Amino acid sequence: MKSTFPLDLSYAQHLDQQDELIPFRRRFVTDDSDLIYLDGNSLGRLPLATRHLMQQTIDDAWGRRLIRSWNEGWFTLPERIGGKIARLLGAQPDEVVVADSTSVNLFKLALAALEAQPERHKIITDDLNFPSDLYVLQSISRLRAGSYVQVVASSDGIHGPVAALAEAIDGDTALVVLSHTTFKSSFVYDMTAVTQLAHQSGAIMLWDLSHSAGSVFINLNEANVDLAVGCTYKYLNGGPGAPAFLYVRRNWQDKLNNPIAGWMGQHRPFDFGLDYAPEPDLRRFLSGTPPILSLAAIEAGVDLLLEAGMDNIRAKSVQQSEYLIDLWRQLLAPIGFRLNSPSDSEQRGSHISLGHEEGWRINLALIDQHILPDFRRPDNIRLGITPLYTTYEDLWTAVTHLRTIVTQKQYQSYSQTAHTVT
Ligand SMILES: *Cc1c(COP(=O)(O)O)cnc(C)c1O
Repeated sequence: MKSTFPLDLSYAQHLDQQDELIPFRRRFVTDDSDLIYLDGNSLGRLPLATRHLMQQTIDDAWGRRLIRSWNEGWFTLPERIGGKIARLLGAQPDEVVVADSTSVNLFKLALAALEAQPERHKIITDDLNFPSDLYVLQSISRLRAGSYVQVVASSDGIHGPVAALAEAIDGDTALVVLSHTTFKSSFVYDMTAVTQLAHQSGAIMLWDLSHSAGSVFINLNEANVDLAVGCTYKYLNGGPGAPAFLYVRRNWQDKLNNPIAGWMGQHRPFDFGLDYAPEPDLRRFLSGTPPILSLAAIEAGVDLLLEAGMDNIRAKSVQQSEYLIDLWRQLLAPIGFRLNSPSDSEQRGSHISLGHEEGWRINLALIDQHILPDFRRPDNIRLGITPLYTTYEDLWTAVTHLRTIVTQKQYQSYSQTAHTVT
């Protein structure tokens, strides 16, 4: 067990004073200074530079340059921003492109991978994966006769079932699809080891990096990963519904076909040829016209992460989660809170899930006290740590409020009824 952190506020403030990343907090919109935001794992804060960039894109590029802007940067924007995201993922700049949503990108890549290996039938995933990913895979198995999805179960709902996956992956496995960092418990798979498991049986490995990009250390090239997808609106701070990224390792790029063929993936689209002839490179995974405004909004958030450096971000994330877990152990475990995340930081991403039988109502009380976590059924209060703007004082305050909400039974004045978006 780790050494115990002092429990007082002044110690949290001391840690903030020592923090080298603290200047980055002022690069985000934090007008709401009394708000403690612990949901950057779901929707990152707005970078100040994004406001400026959007103003420029709207007033100059759209307002004045109009259609000419397509030849002044818009057409290549999916690759240019993809190239920047690649640096956060340990990939080559020409291996990442931005398009569509994570769900749609998963559909395109997973179906392409299945079609590349018609003699194999099985898609393997686990029950910690994000439900949208499961729905997409189920839909793909309906489209391809004979294929099916095997969902491997975690034994405790917290840790990924690595041994059971190793057993399930066999010569009939076409594709293994897993969330690298799982959305509820924050468990992080060993990317290299699991990719190797898939490759040993000749299967293709596809990682969903939605909760990993910008939060944990990733090296897709070193781990020899075939395919990946992920969100830009979580730790990358790209904005609500910002388009997602997809990664295809170089050697696969001319072998996989986009099942949603469209003119933006066509070789020389402005020849307007009547037969589809895809680009040889990653552009073939574009389908329709990119949403330029929301695409442009991604860049400033990615630049901030590159400037801060993933090593520094990960180091602070680990220290902050160790601090938060220690506060949980001292102040919250005795009053009924469970740690629903791995206790080993090697296996944990940048959010901590705390379970409590009154989790939903405690979460509502916390929101009323200007502290925003989010809630994932059945009982998880997720506390997201985003090192560019989360302070130690934020974490200390959240924990002391959680304690008071329970010890003074403040949650009892809230309704059990769930909201549409939790
Ligand atoms: C957030 C998340 C998604 C969301 O997909 P969208 O298509 O952007 O709605 C998908 N997969 C995982 C693992 C996620 O965490």
